[in-house]
Amino acid sequence: MYDQLKSLAKKWLPPGLLRRFEPQLRALVTLKYLGKNHRCNCCGTRLSTFIALERGDDLCPRCGSLPRSRRLWRLLSRFDLRGQRVLHFSPPRALADRLRGASLGQYVTTDFEDEFLADERYDITNLDLPDDSFDLIICYHVLEHIPDDRTAMAELYRVLAPGGLGLIQTPFREGETYEDPTITDAAGRLAAFGQEDHVRVYSVAGLSERLRAAGFTVEPRRYPGDEFYGWRDGETVIWARKRGGDV
Ligand SMILES: [Zn+2]
Repeated sequence: MYDQLKSLAKKWLPPGLLRRFEPQLRALVTLKYLGKNHRCNCCGTRLSTFIALERGDDLCPRCGSLPRSRRLWRLLSRFDLRGQRVLHFSPPRALADRLRGASLGQYVTTDFEDEFLADERYDITNLDLPDDSFDLIICYHVLEHIPDDRTAMAELYRVLAPGGLGLIQTPFREGETYEDPTITDAAGRLAAFGQEDHVRVYSVAGLSERLRAAGFTVEPRRYPGDEFYGWRDGETVIWARKRGGDV
C-alpha cells in the first residue's frame, strides 16, 4: 500500500513540491501507524508497526528511514561527532537531518544521480576535494553502482584524513563478488546483480579485499537484529580506516 502511494505521489507531484511537503505528507501517513510496539531511533516516533516495503525492508513512516539508516544512526550516535568533518554519499533525509543537528565541524552531502537531497554532485571516481580532508565518510549503497570501483575506493582513501573512518555498505551475497562487465542492459543487471542499475554484487570478503588493496585497514562488523527498532539480523557494515593519525 505504501509503495503504491509513494509511486502515485511521485507520478503526480513535481519532485520539488514532493520534497518540500514530504515531512507534512509523512506526518499524515504516520497517524495510522502510531503505537507502542516499535520505536524509530532516527526520529523517536513510537509505532504500532513499521511499514513493510515490497522488497522486505521495514520503513519508518514518520522519517522515511530504512533499517540500515536506523542502524547507522545508532552506530553514529555512540561517536563523539562534535567538530568532525563528514562526507556523506547519497544521504537519506532521515540521517542527514540528524547529522545536521550533531554539531559537526563540516558536513558535506553528495549525490551523483540526484536521487537524494545533497549539496554536491561529485563523481566518486574523481572527487573534487583535497587530500586528507574528512574524519568520517559514509558510503552506503553506492559502490555497487560504480563500474570503476577500485578508483572510487582510492578516492575515498585519498580524501579521508589519516586515522579517519569510512563506514561502507552495499548489498552482499554469500561466496565471492559477482560481476560481469558484458552485462550492460537494465534487465540483465536486474537478473544478475539484483537491481537495474547495479554493476556487481559484492561478498563481504570481496569488498573487504578491494578496500584493503586501496590501503584501508578493514573490519567487517555483523550486527544482530532487533524487532523493536526494526533492525535486520545479520546486517554487515564495513569499517574501513585509513592508517595514521592518533586514532
Ligand atoms: Zn523515524
